[in-house]
Amino acid sequence: MINIPQSNPGANYFAHQTEIDAAVQRVLHGGWYILGAETAAFEQEFAAYIGAAHAVGVGSGTDALCLALRAAGVGSGQLVATVSHTAVATVAAIEMCGATPLLIDIDPATYTMDAGQLQECLQQNSVRAVVPVHLYGRPADLGAIAALTAQHGALLVEDCSQAHGAALDGRKLGSWGHAAAFSFYPTKNLGAMGDGGMVATSDAGLAERVRSLREYGWRERYVSETAGVNSRLDELQAAVLRVKLRHLDVENDCRRALACHYQGLLANSGFGLPPSSAGWHVYHQYVVRSKQRDALRAGLATAGIKTLVHYPVPVHLQPAYAGRVRVQRTLPHTEAAAREIMSLPMFPELTFADVESVAAQLVALGQAYP
Ligand SMILES: *Cc1c(COP(=O)(O)O)cnc(C)c1O
Repeated sequence: MINIPQSNPGANYFAHQTEIDAAVQRVLHGGWYILGAETAAFEQEFAAYIGAAHAVGVGSGTDALCLALRAAGVGSGQLVATVSHTAVATVAAIEMCGATPLLIDIDPATYTMDAGQLQECLQQNSVRAVVPVHLYGRPADLGAIAALTAQHGALLVEDCSQAHGAALDGRKLGSWGHAAAFSFYPTKNLGAMGDGGMVATSDAGLAERVRSLREYGWRERYVSETAGVNSRLDELQAAVLRVKLRHLDVENDCRRALACHYQGLLANSGFGLPPSSAGWHVYHQYVVRSKQRDALRAGLATAGIKTLVHYPVPVHLQPAYAGRVRVQRTLPHTEAAAREIMSLPMFPELTFADVESVAAQLVALGQAYP
């Protein structure tokens, strides 16, 4: 009986168990559990990896995006443009900082922000910041987006929560914008054993403001200069993430090899497959597309193969946002994608044999549900 999960953070722990256990023991014995040497070292190592001058560890990816925007001066009464085809977290973070999200459509080929619609949006509105999402690990069209934000005087803040290690034109994602937000949710390419996040930036002032905001707005201990929050990366998560960062490039290579294998096996299947990518795609998800999506998912589930949909309901149609969130025109490509996409099993410990099982089932189901 086949049993292939869609993601498998536990397998990643077992892959590095000796190193992770040693790191955890070190923290437990050290007796210092919040904002200490492990977090400071991980911030430096992560900043160096991304090619940013600074990195500041926070409690989650959502907080990273919210605090990056706040530290950049974005807040109440200002518009922030992003996509509706993303984790609700992206839009929640914009509202958490007090700003107003303005949602635009995706390019249906890449599932990332449509630069043409962004141009129209920036011409028609006074937009303070733009948040492209490097969805599924694919670089958004940053060349065009960065040119547009520069032309219109808007800030560029990248949502890199699915794109640790991805790059474009030889430059890592997260080093393109004024700031970038990363999530270390357990299933991400770089995942903790709990929640965690990071702001990366080369703006020293912005980094200092995030450092203050993450701990009650302190200027110094017990002196709150601004009204901050409690959003800290803890020492256990930092120690685990230091281990996993050392393996990230190899694991991203595994994901790319698995994606390439899927691509070859599904080439003549008739399903919509990820197009080849400008830049270095790190396949957080391998997403295929079909009008028969629901029947295919049910058939795969019966065969012991788990899939997910990222995401089944666009943010502008979610109960909490529908009818009140601002949308640039209509979002037909976002809505069509939500009906037709599914994410196949994808994690570094998946085997080529697993990929072959998934592809064989999918091809057979495709003949049953043309
Ligand atoms: C996971 C994710 C987030 C939120 O991260 P959390 O750590 O869960 O708060 C934000 N944006 C995107 C695109 C994500 O995938």
